[in-house]
Amino acid sequence: MPLPKQEYQIQFPTKPHSVYNYMKKNILIVLTGGTIAMKASGQGGVVPANEFADFLRQFPQLSSVANVEVMDYLNIPSPYMTPQMMFELAKLIDLKIIDFDGVVVTHGTDTLEETAFLCDLVLTTRKPVVFTAAMRSGSELGLDGPRNIIGSVRVACHHDSMDKGVLVVMNDEIHTARDVVKSDTGKVDAFMSPGFGPIGCVDPDQVVYNRSTLFRESVWTDQLDTDIDLIKAVAGLDGRHLKSSVENGAKAIVIEAFGRGNLPKTLVPDLVEAMKKNVVIVISSRTYTGRVLPEYGYDGGGRHLQELGAILAGDMKGEKVRLKLMALFGKYHDADIVKRFFKQSSL
Ligand code: ASP
Repeated sequence: MPLPKQEYQIQFPTKPHSVYNYMKKNILIVLTGGTIAMKASGQGGVVPANEFADFLRQFPQLSSVANVEVMDYLNIPSPYMTPQMMFELAKLIDLKIIDFDGVVVTHGTDTLEETAFLCDLVLTTRKPVVFTAAMRSGSELGLDGPRNIIGSVRVACHHDSMDKGVLVVMNDEIHTARDVVKSDTGKVDAFMSPGFGPIGCVDPDQVVYNRSTLFRESVWTDQLDTDIDLIKAVAGLDGRHLKSSVENGAKAIVIEAFGRGNLPKTLVPDLVEAMKKNVVIVISSRTYTGRVLPEYGYDGGGRHLQELGAILAGDMKGEKVRLKLMALFGKYHDADIVKRFFKQSSL
């Protein structure tokens, strides 16, 4: 016999989006500092201020979007961030997010792409983790911080933000931590994902995703090994920096080479020497987009470097390659395993 209607019929709202408005999500905002928490000082210059956490706790627009808890974790300019501090932040997020629906991290713009990417690699949560910042301090006209925070909280609350890895919301755009870079020193639209573009936007209060990320990787590790260096190729580069890194105990050295992954041939003997000492050499490109490939076979060309034993890092930018190596060495402690992992995971 069929059940009486009221016992099995679930009343759905007429507008599907409003399903998610019935319950406000619980979002933790972790503050780490940066311009978003700074003000102009009497002595001149913009410096960290104390009132940002209180401002957020009383920010009425925020409480209408989500139940928000603010954690005053750090208040530093982001050039002071170290990989170890980034890693500890990631561990904190993994622990805290158990009790929340998502986490928003406010950060300085200067190293934001590095912290966001390291978190992307090592976090185990599938819940939304969103980084945001401001290009203008609390003392400037047209400050962007409050809008970026609201946008980030909206993204952290959205059901489609699950399983996307760490996201970065700036200037109404949603980027992935893997692709995003700071591309301008002063403009409000300072963040971009070169070659790929943002994956979505906040418009004006709705979260819209236009594409998904096909490639994500994780290195779940309990520690980092920070003995990894980065050298940028310039015309006439000689082996001074490389030798100094090797002498100072680098386990791996990332070289941001030219174009497809090419270097001056005069550097080759020092590279060979480094690899003989079991130092992993990883080649990325100093160009803004595109991959390094074994294309050029001349001495110092990407193909030649690969034949000598260097690893080509695909399309990943040098500073992110460095962090990935820190996580890999922290987990495996073994140059051969790290090399194998890198070869398999580079696009
Ligand atoms: N120097 C600042 C920082 O990264 C810049 C910013 O936040 O926009 O802390």
